[in-house]
Amino acid sequence: MRGWWRDLTDLVLPAECGGCGRPRTVLCPECRAVLTAAVPRRVRPAPEPSGLPVVLAAARYADETRALLLAHKERGALALAGPLGTALAGAVRATLGGGRARTGGATVLLVPVPSGRGAVRARGHDPTRRIALAAAGELRRTGTPARVVAVLRQRRPVADQSGLDARQRRANLSGALGVAAAGAGLLGGGPVVLVDDLMTTGASLAEAARALRAVGVGAAVYEGADRERTGERMAAAMEGNTDHTIRAAVIAASPDSLEINRN
Ligand SMILES: [Zn+2]
Repeated sequence: MRGWWRDLTDLVLPAECGGCGRPRTVLCPECRAVLTAAVPRRVRPAPEPSGLPVVLAAARYADETRALLLAHKERGALALAGPLGTALAGAVRATLGGGRARTGGATVLLVPVPSGRGAVRARGHDPTRRIALAAAGELRRTGTPARVVAVLRQRRPVADQSGLDARQRRANLSGALGVAAAGAGLLGGGPVVLVDDLMTTGASLAEAARALRAVGVGAAVYEGADRERTGERMAAAMEGNTDHTIRAAVIAASPDSLEINRN
């Protein structure tokens, strides 16, 4: 049934591969392979912004990857959210050292880096959140409990990041994100993984991590008096070998970021 349905929708909405433009498919086998064939690897921007968590990227930054991310983000090719989410799930799993075994069954909390409200309105959707939801679904299907906690908000407008260098991006974003009221309460109980579609300078992920740490997420919460205050919720979360380092996973990192082998 899926086959004729696809043919029918293709007649109504002629599809083309978001990666290479090949007709009659939203994602051709070759572009799917670019997205999913690579082993997730650690990526590091140079210079590396302070406070950037360890970031793992699912795919290499090929022309096809870039085209797929743009087709989903800017051209509304929403059918790509599934495959992009599957790729992201692979990177999330890698940040956890293999998924369920490492999390002790705790629910993995995926925190999307938010787009500005204006950008969401202009695009008609929030691409990173959509991919994160698809990734959480893929993780659950493959045995790793996961959910999306979209608790980060832009606290003030920021300029378009394109055209800014690394230092300007950091200044543009510094203090720009915050955790929504009541959001901090949603962040206990499992490993926290920041997720985004693409890392360029790392400024957005570093700012997102700073915002999470500001409400006590991350290793610092276990030091000193904070540990007493955060109490049982965090203590419970520590059972089963869960650690609370903030991690980050992206689909790809631009060539400005140096790829490093994981070993
Ligand atoms: Zn293709």
